[in-house]
Amino acid sequence: MKLDKVLKSLGLDGKALKKGDLIVRSPITGGEVARLVCDDAKGAAKKIGKAQAAFLAWRQVPAPKRGELVRLLGEELRAHKAALGELVSIEAGKITTEGLGEVQEMIDICDFAVGLSRQLYGLTIASERPGHRMAETWHPLGVVGVITAFNFPVAVWSWNTALALVAGNSVVWKPSEKTPLTALASAKIFGKAAARFAKETGTAIPDGLLEVLIGAREVGEVMVDDPRVALVSATGSTRMGREVAPRVAKRFGRSLLELGGNNAMIVCPSADLKLAERAILFSAVGTAGQRCTSLRRLIVHEEIYGKLLPRLKKLYGQVPVGNPLEGKALIGPLIDAAAFEAMQNALKQAKAEGGKVTGGERVSVAGCSGGYYVKPAIVELAKQSPVMTHETFAPILYVVKYKTLAEAIQLQNDVPQGLSSCIFTRDVREAELFTSATGSDCGIANVNIGPSGAEIGGAFGGEKETGGGRESGSDAWKAYMRRATNTINYSDQLPLAQGVKFDIG
Ligand code: NAD
Repeated sequence: MKLDKVLKSLGLDGKALKKGDLIVRSPITGGEVARLVCDDAKGAAKKIGKAQAAFLAWRQVPAPKRGELVRLLGEELRAHKAALGELVSIEAGKITTEGLGEVQEMIDICDFAVGLSRQLYGLTIASERPGHRMAETWHPLGVVGVITAFNFPVAVWSWNTALALVAGNSVVWKPSEKTPLTALASAKIFGKAAARFAKETGTAIPDGLLEVLIGAREVGEVMVDDPRVALVSATGSTRMGREVAPRVAKRFGRSLLELGGNNAMIVCPSADLKLAERAILFSAVGTAGQRCTSLRRLIVHEEIYGKLLPRLKKLYGQVPVGNPLEGKALIGPLIDAAAFEAMQNALKQAKAEGGKVTGGERVSVAGCSGGYYVKPAIVELAKQSPVMTHETFAPILYVVKYKTLAEAIQLQNDVPQGLSSCIFTRDVREAELFTSATGSDCGIANVNIGPSGAEIGGAFGGEKETGGGRESGSDAWKAYMRRATNTINYSDQLPLAQGVKFDIG
């Protein structure tokens, strides 16, 4: 499909998206696909004001009815899956099935949130006082600011937005400046769902329920500093989180941080190597190593190292690199020249630290001379050296050997990040130890599954420099609501807690 046709089927006019300072490029060819006008600070503040007004109205709509809007959003996403998936590929460089998979993830979280809209449960708590009842009530929170990264340009927005909407909040979204078109398309799809909701339920959607801020970090900073934004959910690099978190904290706002990862796999002697190889390949080279959960460190038992490595190198030699929208490519481009440079610098550092590098070179792809395509790299190291402690957002897999499982778990945990991890073993003791309190210190710890490709049902996020936030499934919705503890006295006495006496006379 041609870009203009894709945009048109998503409700956008390609011809109108040609003026402005923000140049949008497709990583597939490096060519310009659009120019957009950015929001300035004044415009951003105005949009936040609209979202605040929308919140005051939306919080009064009963939660199951709010769920109906999200159900319709899911329907509209189903109807636009092919086009939005293709736009994700054009803008972020994902292969077709991954672009479609990203939209499927949006549909999945909508389904989850619809059910959730009838399950925003609080607890009842036994009171120590006679004739009293205690309860917890969950209320809408306010404006939720969502900052997203280029590599999941729309799924992360939907994780936040589906939950925020059923929770009774409005949303202001600051997408990555590298992927604003998919954001505008998602906003159009949301608009279609909102129009249907108004028509089918007779309840108007308040203007400003979803606002999109176009631009780079400066426009994000407006949201970060605005006290009307109750929660800032920020996804991106640890560098970004380090700037955002203290600024939000300074005004006593809430933040939910989903930052960089440095994910490892431990391969034990009893592992099913065929399974492990497939998992390594998908998680280390899929999305060209540009997932927060991409596999970056492989910790292999010394007994099987000699068997696994040659097989892995053979697979690496066969994996097709190319235009993600054509042929059989499994690895598309890196996002831009800076990403390529960061990869080359990391490989240089790895060599200087004694690493043996296989792959990593630039690949030329017909018709895509401005795109940065690379062979995925394997780096064999004698020990976990400094280069391995950084997240380089590219397909580099560092490999080290281990002797004992205790040593492997220590290596796995000995990095500043704590997002995702996994172990391949058939030994139940090893698997249980890895997932126990003394095992992996990550937010995600898997057994016989790679570190990437999470389902929406579980809470998603990580520890340490990954930021500590949890999004998506399980009880992540609680971050988007405020909790009130209610004590209700239905007696004619006023006993004080802890036996305190406070009577006159
Ligand atoms: P980035 O940090 O460069 O940008 C992310 C977003 O933050 C962009 O929208 C950017 O404009 C905005 N931003 C940057 N500085 C800001 C500031 N000071 N104030 C407000 N907004 C600011 O990240 P990227 O290159 O787009 O994405 C890659 C990174 O994101 C990787 O580190 C990856 O691990 C991480 N990531 C994490 C998760 C997760 O769930 N943990 C998911 C996806 C990506």
